[in-house]
Amino acid sequence: MTNSFTCRNFIDGKWWDSTGKTTLESRNPAYKSEIVATFPRSTIADVNQAVESARQAYKTWRKVPAPARAEYVFLVGELLIQHKEELAQLISREMGKPLTEARGDIQEGIDCAFYSAGEGRRLFGQTTPSEMPNKFAMTVRTPIGVCALITPWNFPIAIPCWKAMPALVCGNTIILKPAEDTPACATKLIEIFAAAGFPPGVVNLLHGVGEEVGKALVEHADVNLVSFTGSSATGSQVGEICGRTHKRVCLEMGGKNAQIVMEDADLELALDGAIWGAFGTTGQRCTATSRLILHRDIKAQFTAMLWERTKKLRLGAGYDADTEIAAIINERQLQRVSEYMDIAREEGANILIGGEVAVEGALKEGYFFKPTILDNVTPQMRVAREEIFGPVVALMEVSSFEDAIAILNDTNYGLSSSIYTRDINRAFAAMRDIEAGITYINGPTIGAEVHLPFGGVKQTGNGHREAGSAAIDTFTEWKTVYVDFSGSLQRAQIDNRD
Ligand code: ADP
Repeated sequence: MTNSFTCRNFIDGKWWDSTGKTTLESRNPAYKSEIVATFPRSTIADVNQAVESARQAYKTWRKVPAPARAEYVFLVGELLIQHKEELAQLISREMGKPLTEARGDIQEGIDCAFYSAGEGRRLFGQTTPSEMPNKFAMTVRTPIGVCALITPWNFPIAIPCWKAMPALVCGNTIILKPAEDTPACATKLIEIFAAAGFPPGVVNLLHGVGEEVGKALVEHADVNLVSFTGSSATGSQVGEICGRTHKRVCLEMGGKNAQIVMEDADLELALDGAIWGAFGTTGQRCTATSRLILHRDIKAQFTAMLWERTKKLRLGAGYDADTEIAAIINERQLQRVSEYMDIAREEGANILIGGEVAVEGALKEGYFFKPTILDNVTPQMRVAREEIFGPVVALMEVSSFEDAIAILNDTNYGLSSSIYTRDINRAFAAMRDIEAGITYINGPTIGAEVHLPFGGVKQTGNGHREAGSAAIDTFTEWKTVYVDFSGSLQRAQIDNRD
């Protein structure tokens, strides 16, 4: 067994012990007695030190030319390539996901590095005619300041990269507060940022408990922006505080994503999409397919096909080569998924397969839940409305395209969505009528690419987007600049009118 890893905070270009004495642990979800890392339960004094370091560094970092800032980020991408395999092993051990998916998690970080680095030479503004003679008008992007990046455990490399890379290219300084379940992944990532040679204080890492240091960062007067990905309950609290303290806040929260399968769909293709969408990353993605909306003409056949494939899925540790369904992140989450089975039964849903914790052989050493299909689910049931975040998919029957869209939209969330159909008219109507930030035609609800905006409508987000050039909008302010070269006072709206 590998030795446990000791995580420290990274502040002002140096690795520090916390001023507090308490440490916490992360564990291998496939083998719960194995401690993967210990990390500090940081204190308010540590928060203040990190914010001060980021605030001081901002004064000079904002003046470094954006193409030069981008070169550091480009170097992070190159270093991630070099460390990809070692990092993938660590993700699998600490977060649990299969190695192929862990490599994908890092690849997303690499893609984001190269995409964001290109933005360093593209922070375009506009020039536009002035309404006055001998006057020039333009817009330029300016950084926002100190950014607190609060991240979850399910994509321990990709999500911090999505936030940190565009933030840094835009001239902001950052404090990463990673999830308590994946401190070692965050530490390794920040080691790579440190190796890229950012000036001290530009990149900071603060471990600790969300309700303590996360909250303190959100409340801190010298933090100018909060970018948060996590649960809706925590996101609401973060949003409330940022509203009160006038901070820019970018929230990415829950989803209850659906895949529609129409009667004219390629069923094999739709099946591949459903299995990957519902059970990939053990259903622990914010874009996971948690509802399958099936046209009644194909429902029986599709359900049988789904059952057959689900039955064969192999559970195991992420680092075992033939694992398809890995562990659930922790005991609390395993318990939560189990509780939803009781709720499903009470509400009258039918558990077709799975529905229980897996304890066969070595699986009892970890937090494993059998891939689960719930049938006879109706729109009002809690299992159709609440995010479960596990390998659980709810089947819902519809008799028309219009019903399918209505049921898909009948949710408080609006992150990802999908429809399988061969009818081009339905495909375009779905693109128009589905209420979600992301819609896939003939593809599963998961599979975001870094150069396109990522985020959701309704209670999934608060109107911001991550990734793509949309991330630049999140991490910059617009400044409008007028240059009057007439040599006299010119009054807009007055001097150019009779
Ligand atoms: P989950 O239930 O998946 O752990 P959370 O929303 O609780 O999701 O956690 C996402 C991130 O938010 C983590 O980094 C966590 O430490 C942090 N966090 C938790 N509570 C708070 C809070 N009150 N204020 C700020 N950050 C928090």
